[in-house]
Amino acid sequence: MSLTNRILLAMVAGILTGSLFNLLLHGVSVPDLVQMVIADYLVGGLFDVVGRIFVASLKLLVVPLVLVSLICGASSLGDSARMGPIALKTLCLYLLTTAIAVSAALLFAVLVGPGTAVQLGVETTFQAAAAPPLADVLVDIFPSNPIRAMADGKMLQIIVFALLTGYAISHAGEPGRRIATFFRDMEAVVMSMVGILMALAPYGVFALLAKLFANMGIGAILDLAAYFFTVLAVLLFHLFGVYGLLLRFLAGLSPRMLIHKMRPVWAFAFSTASSGATLPITLHTAEKRMGVHNSVAGFTVPLGATINMDGTAIMQGVATVFIAQVYGVDLSMGAYITVILTATLASIGTAAVPGVGLITLALVLEQAGLPVEGIALIIGVDRLLDMVRTAVNVTGDVTVSVIVAKSENQFDQEVFLDPRADRGAPLPADGPPTV
Ligand code: ASP
Repeated sequence: MSLTNRILLAMVAGILTGSLFNLLLHGVSVPDLVQMVIADYLVGGLFDVVGRIFVASLKLLVVPLVLVSLICGASSLGDSARMGPIALKTLCLYLLTTAIAVSAALLFAVLVGPGTAVQLGVETTFQAAAAPPLADVLVDIFPSNPIRAMADGKMLQIIVFALLTGYAISHAGEPGRRIATFFRDMEAVVMSMVGILMALAPYGVFALLAKLFANMGIGAILDLAAYFFTVLAVLLFHLFGVYGLLLRFLAGLSPRMLIHKMRPVWAFAFSTASSGATLPITLHTAEKRMGVHNSVAGFTVPLGATINMDGTAIMQGVATVFIAQVYGVDLSMGAYITVILTATLASIGTAAVPGVGLITLALVLEQAGLPVEGIALIIGVDRLLDMVRTAVNVTGDVTVSVIVAKSENQFDQEVFLDPRADRGAPLPADGPPTV
């Protein structure tokens, strides 16, 4: 069985096992001993440990991978004067796709009206965190100490440092060429680590999902079905419709292949609910399987994982309309435009870890003049939606990378069109895990 299929199978098996355990723990009566084995030894023991080790090992690769990959990319582009245009195109596309995402979410939500039939009977106690001033946010992008930036995992600071290093390498003559070779070798080594980790992914994905579903009552969805399915519908519309159209019209490529190759990445995004933890796999897929040249992918993918969150913006758009409807507030045209702007900007400020989209939602609600405590209404189903929106977030990063790479001739169409392509990285695709 191919690795992709094994990861997808692990995903389904994890969801089924978790749901079954949830039933045994909370639904039907089973002997105490069985409950103890399931709750303490499996869910709270084995699955918890395996899942946590898996996420930790993914995160372990993020900083080295972003650093070397971006240095390689920037050093090979540095003297071609293409860095500026690539950065500009990427930023514009990231903002555009997010604005489309939140607009579609508002439109769907207004048409469906998920909050119109909901009675306010929930304890609403949500404390919103204060947003930092814009000046601080800007200054914070520039690192004063690259080691601290890496230790703290400050992605934008690492991006700035790596861009500067790569650019300097391309302008440093012979020493620059020697160092560039070193970083290219490093990149091959780190990518090979990603390959090793991917071979272990089925176990990690299974453990994470089994634990999550064992602890989470799916019943929460029933109370919030209208909200849940509206968000889900817009997420799927964006994933398959909007990205497909953009890919076709801006890059002249069929979205089918992209969707086919994104499946393992979705399994990672779905089980970790973190674009940050998924980043090694996203980057690997963009470079080795989609054919995006490292000079573009090294920049666009890490940047996208940090600032481009279309799925999150979709949740925020639907949630705003939902909360307005539950509280009986009529949103004006101005309020809708404010929501589009703030959700697009909030997506830049949303950290690529689970659940943060819900926190930046406070910002959006505040700007729209809605009660921030309304967030408490949707917390119950947020984790599930987080998994799906993270998959949308990372797909947006890869789609934009492909479009930008194609327009810059930094794209290998042969690799993109080859369903089994995995150029360069020694990914043990079909064999058992080698570690
Ligand atoms: N979990 C999301 C991500 O990492 C962010 C969010 O919407 O909470 O992409």
